Amino acid sequence: MDTEMLECKKCRLHEGRQNVVIGEGPSDADIMLIGEAPGANEDKTGRPFVGRAGKILDEALEGAGLAREDVFIGNIVKCRPPSNRNPKKDEIASCTPFLDMQMASIRPKVLVPMGNFPTGYVMERFGLDRRRIGEVRGKIFDVETPWGGAAIVPIYHPAATIYNQRLRPVLQKDFKLIGRFNL
Ligand code: URA
Repeated sequence: MDTEMLECKKCRLHEGRQNVVIGEGPSDADIMLIGEAPGANEDKTGRPFVGRAGKILDEALEGAGLAREDVFIGNIVKCRPPSNRNPKKDEIASCTPFLDMQMASIRPKVLVPMGNFPTGYVMERFGLDRRRIGEVRGKIFDVETPWGGAAIVPIYHPAATIYNQRLRPVLQKDFKLIGRFNL
């Protein structure tokens, strides 16, 4: 599966990429964090959430008593969109089969989509209505997956808290909720 992702040319985003950011974390992680798409730093290094948003994510994880090494961190789109624009519908459609394969292989008990695009995808994927992140963040949705019961806990995207500082304590609070799962 990794080679397939690393060599993928299914959408236009392969043209400008330096690296495919497939995600990282234990192959049997209980918690899977799902972001939107790599930014400049991620494209350069091939690792998810290593830039400014990554720093906020690391702090929130630490505040919740979670170690970055213990969670899987991935994205719905694995190549950087030019100038960090939003991923397009067809790019998401081309790329999310990889996320589906990753989820089926890792079999997480808690799925944490971060921001609107990942939340819309993950909720719809497991039979829930697509809703805006502001309405659903910090709520727990119990769903049935092919690998058993799981909880979806949508949260704000860490980068959203760069532009709107008032969201930072909300993000930290929601991470504490994730940290309280008895895994
Ligand atoms: N933002 C994302 O959504 N994903 C990353 O990997 C980095 C920043």
